[in-house]
Amino acid sequence: MNDKRVLVTGGAGFIGSCLVRQLIADPGVSQVINLDRLTYAGNLDSLESVESDPRYTFIQGDICDSSLVEELLQEHQPTAIMHLAAESHVDRSIDGPGEFLRTNVTGTFTILDACRRYWAAMEGEAKSSFRFLHVSTDEVYGSLGPEGFFTESTPYAPSSPYSASKASSDHIVRAYFHTYGMPTMITNCSNNYGPYQFPEKLIPLMLLNALAGKPLPIYGDGLNVRDWLFVEDHCDALRLVVEQGVPGQTYNIGGNCERTNIQIVRNLCEIVDLLRPDLPHGPCESLLTFVKDRPGHDRRYAIDASKIRRELGWQPSQDFESGLERTVRWYLDNPQWVERIANGEYRGERLGLG
Ligand code: NAD
Repeated sequence: MNDKRVLVTGGAGFIGSCLVRQLIADPGVSQVINLDRLTYAGNLDSLESVESDPRYTFIQGDICDSSLVEELLQEHQPTAIMHLAAESHVDRSIDGPGEFLRTNVTGTFTILDACRRYWAAMEGEAKSSFRFLHVSTDEVYGSLGPEGFFTESTPYAPSSPYSASKASSDHIVRAYFHTYGMPTMITNCSNNYGPYQFPEKLIPLMLLNALAGKPLPIYGDGLNVRDWLFVEDHCDALRLVVEQGVPGQTYNIGGNCERTNIQIVRNLCEIVDLLRPDLPHGPCESLLTFVKDRPGHDRRYAIDASKIRRELGWQPSQDFESGLERTVRWYLDNPQWVERIANGEYRGERLGLG
């Protein structure tokens, strides 16, 4: 397709904003429409570099609003949907699962069903090249023991309201391929890190606490293992799947980079001590504090990403140690991004509401 018009949902979030920046940087993409409700996790500051590009359109709206979704499909006639909008933070899903079911399950159903009607009315080349990509997580597979990896055929066993809501949405998306022949694809990715990540997630939370001399809270014994991937590598994979993935297929995406939480924080501390030797509170590691474990905390996730490597030729280009240092440097160089979150200014000002 020469005329690529991509509708991204959740494009003001951490991964979505990286994806939007990448899509705009691609001269082969003629339009990027970003549909985002701007919850606490949506931040238009992360899109400052693209906001004046004539190929970029932002629409503040809810994926649960079916008439809005129908209208914008008709108006913008996208050739692909990249669906990232979600409630994404596990701890919040424990405190308030309702919003996770609303956005992740009902919202995914709403946008999927509107797209089915839109796709069904298409004809010819436009219809055969249309794609709906549902962006999901490795957390749907539950917890691994010390050995083994998640493959695309690992049975689902989600443990948290977040992962259960994502698992549910994956099943609905897959059913639309089997039932209606709609060209849907699913990606299940491991933990992302990188610039512009909201400070409630492990790496930015620990980094900002370390800079402020606050305790670095580690759940349980700190030995829970996650597989880490730099956000730009994830977005490269998503674009590749939309371009070359096979409808009906699922692709696991991961960095082949297993680390315990305590390793991550120690690594981060080394970088902080190196880049900010002037901090008054001494070695960063002295701030480590073990706290009561999260309920239902999965022990280990590890992704087998051999399918996407073999079939689509994707592989991550950022190694973890330098990716982490790059991330730390970004936060140090962009204090105003963090500051505007801390004082709430990131919500509203660019919409003329602040
Ligand atoms: P995020 O929380 O940073 O961003 C989510 C975005 O969705 C926000 O901009 C928010 O405003 C928007 N949103 C929320 N509810 C909405 C609604 N009802 N309508 C429209 N927009 C809404 O999340 P993220 O970390 O960027 O994750 C993006 C996607 O990738 C999610 O689907 C998540 O499950 C998946 N994922 C994330 C990771 C990770 O490590 N962060 C890993 C694998 C998969």
